Formats: sequence, C-alpha cells, structure tokens
Amino acid sequence: MSDAAKPTPGDDTGARCRTCGRARTDADPLEALSWVCDRSGAQPQWLCDRCAREHVRDIESKLPAEFW
Ligand SMILES: [Zn+2]
Repeated sequence: MSDAAKPTPGDDTGARCRTCGRARTDADPLEALSWVCDRSGAQPQWLCDRCAREHVRDIESKLPAEFW
C-alpha cells in the first residue's frame, strides 16, 4: 500500500482558463500567480490573468459568465 498516487491538496496542475482554455501550467510561474480562482461552484473555475483583466468588471458585478 502506498500513498504516492494521491493528489496533493491544492494541486491545480489541471487548471485551465474557462474563457480562453489556456492551461495554467503553460503560463510562466509569475503569471500563474495572478490567475483568478472562483471556488463558489462545485468545481474551481480558473481565469487567466489576461481574461481576468478583461472581465474584471463583470466578475466584480457577479455577472454570470454567459453574459460576458
Ligand atoms: Zn484566459
């Protein structure tokens, strides 16, 4: 029995931007820090730094993503 295969808590390596589909692992480490994670749903929703900047007003007004 080994615990080696268990995902580490807080492991977001599979994260992708929900708007442009870029993988967080493709972003450089500094840029990845400015990615936004929305954990209000069942699944964490990621937004890359570029899309977050573009949609910051929609995010702050809590507008559902389908209206962006
Ligand atoms: Zn994006």
